[in-house]
Formats: sequence, structure tokens, C-alpha cells
Amino acid sequence: MAANDRACEAGIPKPAYLTNPAQLVQLSPLERDQAATVSSRYAFRSNTYYQSLIDWDDPNDPIRRIVMPSTDELEDWGPLDASDELRYTEVPGLEHKYRDTALLLMNDVCAGFCRFCFRKRLFMDGNDEVVRDVSGGVAYIHSHPEITNILLTGGDPLLVSTPRLVAILRSISDLKHVRIIRIGTKMLAFNPARVINDPSLPRAIEESISRSQAIFIMAHYNHIAELTPESTAALRILARAGATIVNQTPLIRGVNDSAEALSQLFNELSYRGVLPYYVFQCRPTAGNMPYSVPLEEGFDIFCSAREKCSGLARTARYVMSHATGKVEVLAKSGDYIYMRYHRAAAKENVNRFMILECNRAAHWLDDYRETCSNDLLGVTCEGSHDD
Ligand code: SF4
Repeated sequence: MAANDRACEAGIPKPAYLTNPAQLVQLSPLERDQAATVSSRYAFRSNTYYQSLIDWDDPNDPIRRIVMPSTDELEDWGPLDASDELRYTEVPGLEHKYRDTALLLMNDVCAGFCRFCFRKRLFMDGNDEVVRDVSGGVAYIHSHPEITNILLTGGDPLLVSTPRLVAILRSISDLKHVRIIRIGTKMLAFNPARVINDPSLPRAIEESISRSQAIFIMAHYNHIAELTPESTAALRILARAGATIVNQTPLIRGVNDSAEALSQLFNELSYRGVLPYYVFQCRPTAGNMPYSVPLEEGFDIFCSAREKCSGLARTARYVMSHATGKVEVLAKSGDYIYMRYHRAAAKENVNRFMILECNRAAHWLDDYRETCSNDLLGVTCEGSHDD
């Protein structure tokens, strides 16, 4: 281990949070005004550590793109809840969409706000989808023995205090049918000091694992500029505690929308022992128009990126978190694109394979027309998909 890596693990300064674009001295007065206008609709949040990663001389800096408001967000585009998560909310703070997996929304804030967030509604005044007391959600899971996986999410679950996190992990440990706890977090990118400076966090993970529940950290790195020595040190701490770490990222215009940027991310993650898990089509959420790449262009980038990766770095699936399920994009050939439900909310969609007519302008499943598969495969077509 390099000396400066060891130094990182010994502790790093805690960053200060920034929520007002007026604090951004690097911007011109006009840019500050514009950022203030945008953030009055879609909240701005960052911190001094993450801001320090920005090269302010580069207008195309990827970190800047991830966290700094853009006036293009004000274009009308999509609903606030593009995946219709509310439909699957069974009790306040708990979503149950797939048979074996439940989501506990335990926080309505992150260590920074991604401009392309699909849950930006949680950060708006009056949203009540998140509850501080998750006991109702835990009771629901208790009465559903088919749930073997719990995803702690939000907002960012690592932004809650470790004692509260420990209390939640312990309440879950009483549910013997729960075998996997996933922690969905961008803390490792936004604020690795949270992990590095708190030895009680890896202890909490070790304790959970000792109760026969695997802990998966669902990390959220979008670009290699986030894989700093500090972040790498935080990854090592969590890995030593026994957590398995995988990464999921949306494909974002101006951040990772090239084969080079995406393959660098896949490879650098794998060098740190982190497997790329999902690449998401950017959800057509309100405010996300400037960040979305048309699906077929995105899939081409994804395929080209995989070609530049070793086997362990090419483990991601390209998926779309549609209201009806997680749809994996499998292949493209001629005038057709092939998809399959990787996870489905309704029984009739489980594993359903779809042949769709190509549409270079499409951003979402709803923009496609399904082709009757009997024309192409010589099998019976049982009706078409017309979302
Ligand atoms: S980390 Fe996730 S929940 Fe938080 S702002 Fe980014 S996309 Fe949204």
C-alpha cells in the first residue's frame, strides 16, 4: 500500500456542506444567478471535498457536470417519479416491487445531489415518502418471508448516524429470512471521510455479517475522477470489514457517454475489487433532459466500452428501471433491438423477451413498438407490449 494511501486511512478532514450556489466563488455572478434559479426548482447540494475535485478551468469537467445545476434542467421533460415508485410503496418508507427484494427509504438527503437524480422528488418540500422510523417497514418485511434481500436506500443511508444505522441493521437481523442487506450509497464518491473517520461503521458491517447476513455495498461512481486516493481508502475499509462492493451508474451525457470514459470506469473499479453491476439508462425524470443519452446510442457506447475491458470489468448489464420492471437491453441487429425483463413486477413479464423496432430517438421503453415475435422467430406471438 502506498504511503499516501495509508495516510488516507488514518483520517481525513471532514468536508463542509454547500447548499447555496451563492457560496460558489468559482462561478461568475451570472452563473451563480443561473444556478440559484435552477436550484430553486431542483435542490443543489455538494460539499467542499467533492467541489475540490472540479477543474474549474474545464467547462466540461465531469464532476462539475454531475453536481452543478444547469439551466437546461428547466426544460419540461418527464414526471418526477419516472419509475412510478409510489405504486410499489406498501407502507411509508417501504417499496416492494420484486418478490424477494424490499427497499427501505431511510433518508431524504445525500452527501451531494446528482443533477440527474431519479429521486429528486424526495428532496422537495412536502415529500413524505421517507420516514425516520422504519419500524413499519421492518414489520412489513417480518410478515413477508419471501423477502430475502433488503436494499437500504434513500437519499443516502450512510448519511444517517452509525448508531441509528446499527439499530436498523439489528432490527433486520431478527428477520431470519433476510439473507442479504444492500446499502445503496454514493458516499464513497461524495464524501469518503464519512467511512474513513468512523471506525464504528466497519464494525457494524462486521457485526451484521457475523449474523449470517451478507452486506453488499451498492456504490455509485459515475466517473474515474471520483476514484480518488481517499475514496479508494474508504473502499478498502469496507472490503476489509467483509462487505462485497459493486457499482451501479447511469449513463450520463457529458459524464461517461463515451466508450473511453465508461471503460476506464469499469477497469479502474475492477482494479479496486469492485465489480460493475448495472449501467442504467438515465430515467426520464423531470429535469433530466440534458443528461439523458438516447437508448441505442447509450447501448452502443456500453458495448464499445466492454470491448476495452477484461472479463472481470465487463460484468455490468445495461438496464432500464421501468415502472413494470428492470428491462435489460441485450442486443441490437439490423432494424431490431432485443430486450428482456431482468426483474419484473408482474408474473406475466417474468423473463419476457421482447423484439422491438429500432428507434434512434428513443430514451425509454415507452418510446418503442414491440414486433410480433412470430414474424421473426416462427413462434406464437401472445399479444404485443404497448406501454
Ligand atoms: S446519490 Fe442517488 S439518490 Fe442521491 S442524489 Fe445521486 S442519484 Fe439521487
